[in-house]
Amino acid sequence: MKTLIFATGNAHKAYEVKKMLAELPVRVLTLKDAGLDLDIEETGKTFRENSLIKARAVYAASKQAVLADDSGIEIDAFGGAPGVYSSRFMGEDTPYPVKCAAILERMKDVPDEERGADFRCVMSFIAPDAEGRPQEFVEEGAVYGRIAHAPAGENGFGYDPVFLLPERGVTTAELSDEEKNAISHRGLALQAMKPHLVRWITEE
Ligand code: IMP
Repeated sequence: MKTLIFATGNAHKAYEVKKMLAELPVRVLTLKDAGLDLDIEETGKTFRENSLIKARAVYAASKQAVLADDSGIEIDAFGGAPGVYSSRFMGEDTPYPVKCAAILERMKDVPDEERGADFRCVMSFIAPDAEGRPQEFVEEGAVYGRIAHAPAGENGFGYDPVFLLPERGVTTAELSDEEKNAISHRGLALQAMKPHLVRWITEE
């Protein structure tokens, strides 16, 4: 069975991606599983740039097939922020309930029609071709919603408790893993990536 490294230190992302890839005959390792301790600086200004930075750094260090994701939340009322800075918003170590509460406080007077937001994810996949040359594939996914008026739900991670899906009336933290993966930015990006993964998995 081939091995794919999922280039993340985020245990929640790894959990979601491993679950979605479970149907494919491939062994998925996180950076930790692979024994890789890399300090990758996300210097890009877009999800695409950061996703490729992570994938290329891990490919260079491991020479193994690698999948990387860069993702974040874009809030209309903040002009699209925090975007690529989502994990660094208010400091990397600030607990998410604090970050979510700060967003709700800043938006307490914003009416529903101006509370739009999206989650966006760009996935990069690099694998060696038959001659050992790295081939790069990039796919993305997005989910559109609104910033809720109060946090709700215990599932998911990060900003999920304040990301409302208005047509369902629930936040992404109120969805089961399967429900979230079926509609999420990460799930959609991975769906788009699957044909490339399957081709690599099945080729000699
Ligand atoms: P990065 O891609 O590791 O730079 O960080 C992405 C950050 O965006 C996460 O740490 C979360 O703050 C946020 N984020 C990305 N995807 C999700 C999600 O599915 N739910 C909630 N927050 C997310």
